[in-house]
Amino acid sequence: MKKKKRATAKTPTKSYLTNKLDQSCSLITRSKGRCVKCGEQRYQQLQCCHIYSRTYKSVRWDLLNLLCMCASCHRWGHNNPCLFTEFVQTYLGAEQYEELKARAEPTSHWKIHEMQELREANESAMKRLGVWYRK
Ligand SMILES: [Zn+2]
Repeated sequence: MKKKKRATAKTPTKSYLTNKLDQSCSLITRSKGRCVKCGEQRYQQLQCCHIYSRTYKSVRWDLLNLLCMCASCHRWGHNNPCLFTEFVQTYLGAEQYEELKARAEPTSHWKIHEMQELREANESAMKRLGVWYRK
């Protein structure tokens, strides 16, 4: 019988690191503490919104691509893509918006060691921000 590969902190797999990076980026984004659209501050309402969806691997964990939004504004964004794009252009400003577009274009394949480095960087940022994964 084939032994099932288990992810541990010592031998991380891509899916383990993907999970950790999704979680750490979300925590860092939500630590901003308020919805970028309506100003909602109740933490339970805050979500991490991807401007370019998670399928755009090159910016999946790029903080420029992530917005702290409340559940209701997040839903609004997905239901109104044209208005959402206008909102993002205004929120980021022309320069950052163009920067994000440029970063989102190349299809990128993350290497394990790159994911590991980003995970370590995120976890030090989380320590500074005083946020951590749910137990
Ligand atoms: Zn909101």
